[in-house]
Amino acid sequence: MPTSVNRLFAILLGVFLFSSITASATEPDPNYWRLADIQDQFDIWEAEYPDIFHQMIIGTSGLREDIPMVRISDNAAFSEAEPRMLFHGALHANEPNGTTAIMKTIEALLVGYNHDPAVTARVDSLELFYVPILNVDGHNHVFSGGVSWADWRKTMRDNNGNGEPDFPYDGVDLNRNWDWNWDAYDEEDPSSLKYKGPYPFSEPEIMAVRDFILEQRPVVVVDYHSPVTISWRNYIFWPWMDTGGGGMGPDAAVSEDVAELWAGATLNEDGNHYNEIYAYSTLPKEQCWVYGRTGILAYIMEISDHCWWSGADVDTIGARVARGSNALVDRVIDGPGIRGQIRSLASGQPIVAEVKINQMHSDSVGPRLTEAGYGMYYRLTTAGSYTVTVSCEGYNPQTKSVTVADGWQQLDFDLEPNMSGVGPAVESSWLVTSHMPGSDHSIRLEMPAGLPAATVELFDLRGHRVGVLGHGLEAGRGHELDLPKHISGGVYLVRVVAGNQQQTGRVVIVR
Ligand SMILES: [Zn+2]
Repeated sequence: MPTSVNRLFAILLGVFLFSSITASATEPDPNYWRLADIQDQFDIWEAEYPDIFHQMIIGTSGLREDIPMVRISDNAAFSEAEPRMLFHGALHANEPNGTTAIMKTIEALLVGYNHDPAVTARVDSLELFYVPILNVDGHNHVFSGGVSWADWRKTMRDNNGNGEPDFPYDGVDLNRNWDWNWDAYDEEDPSSLKYKGPYPFSEPEIMAVRDFILEQRPVVVVDYHSPVTISWRNYIFWPWMDTGGGGMGPDAAVSEDVAELWAGATLNEDGNHYNEIYAYSTLPKEQCWVYGRTGILAYIMEISDHCWWSGADVDTIGARVARGSNALVDRVIDGPGIRGQIRSLASGQPIVAEVKINQMHSDSVGPRLTEAGYGMYYRLTTAGSYTVTVSCEGYNPQTKSVTVADGWQQLDFDLEPNMSGVGPAVESSWLVTSHMPGSDHSIRLEMPAGLPAATVELFDLRGHRVGVLGHGLEAGRGHELDLPKHISGGVYLVRVVAGNQQQTGRVVIVR
C-alpha cells in the first residue's frame, strides 16, 4: 500500500476505534500504561540503570496515593548543579497520551545512553524529571473502568460528600485550581468539568508541582494534554499574552522560538508537524501561574486530536511526541541563554537572589529567583546584548553586561554583604536581632513573663519549615537561638508559638 493510503487507513481506523471505544468499551485500551504497570517498569529500569534512573515521588494525591516521579541524569540519585526540566502527563485523567509519550521518552534515554552521543549528552548535561501521571486518583478511576471513565477529567474530590464518584459533579479541574486570576474565573459549579475548586491549591497534586517548581526552578516545564475541543489538536501553547494590559510576556520572542523549534520536530498523525501559538494569561491554569509567578517557560502540548486511541496507534502517537521532545531538550542544552551562580562574597555560599535580564523584564512576571541548592540560574534568550541585575536583601545589587551569540554565556555574581541593609532583621516585640554576617548567626528571643513555654521555628518564604530553633523555652527571660548553618542566604520567617499566642517576624540571613 502507498504510504499516504496507509496513513489514511490508520486515521480512519483510529477514528473508528475511538467511536467504538466510547460507545462500548468497559475500560481503556490495554496499550495504555496503568499506574501499577508503570511502577513495575520503574523497578525494572532502576535495577537495570541505577546510575541514570532514580525513582522519587513528587507528592501525594487527594486519596493519599504516591505520585511517582523519576530523575534521569548522570548520578541520578543525587542533586547536581545542572539545568532541570520537568515533564508531566495526565493532569487530566482522561488524557493519557502524555503518559505514553513520557514512558517512550524515558525508554529512549535509558536505551540510548552510552550508545547514541546525543542521548548521552541529554542525560549527562541535565536533570530530567518525569511524572507520567499527575492525577493518579482520576487515573485509577478511569483505568478501572469506573463511571463515565472516558470523560473523567478531574480529581476524585467528593464534592457532594456521598462517598462515591458522581459524574460530572465530583472532582476539581487541576488546570483551574492555581492561584492565578482566581477571583475573575467564575467556574464555581462543581458539576462543571472545569470546576476551579473550593479555594486555590485545594488539590495536593498541584501543590506538589508548585513546590517542586519553586524549589528546583526548572528551565522549562511541560504539561502534556490531549484536546477535548478538536480545534486545538497538535498544538503547543507558549507563555503568554497578558490580557491585563501587559501585552506579550517579556520572554515572548524566546518562548515562541523554542515552541517553533519543538513543534517543527513533532509529527502528528497526518505526517505534518505541530503548530504553536501563545496562550492567554486569563485562567487559573498551571501554565499561567508558572510563568507569571516564576518566569519559568511553561508549555502545554495538546497531543493528537482526541483523548483515546487504540492498539498500535497508542504507541505510535506517544513515540512521535517523545521524539519531538528531543528538540526542546537539546535547545536547553545548546542555548542560547545566560546562566550563572550567585554567591556571597563573604562566605562563597550560594544565595537565593533575584536575577533580572533588564531587556526581558516585566513587573507582571516573576520574581525570577535562583534555585536554593547551588544559587544557579538558567535563562534561555535569543542572540543579543543584555544587562543582568542581581539583587538580594542584605547585599549590594550588581549589574553586568553580556553579549549572547550561540550557546550559553556564563555570568556569575559574588554579592557583597551590606551590613546597613540588615537593619532590625526581626520585626516582632518578643524577638530581638543580634545576628551579624560572617560569624555566629543567632537571634535573641525575649519572652515576656506569664506565658507558657515557647517553640520557635524558621520558615522559608514559601512556608516550608527549614528548622526548629528551640522548644520548651521558658517565659520571663531571654534566649539566644542559633540559626541553622547549612541554609542559603535570604529572607526567612521566624514563628514563636507560646500556648495560644503567636508572633511572626522576618529575619535576613546573610552568608
Ligand atoms: Zn487537558
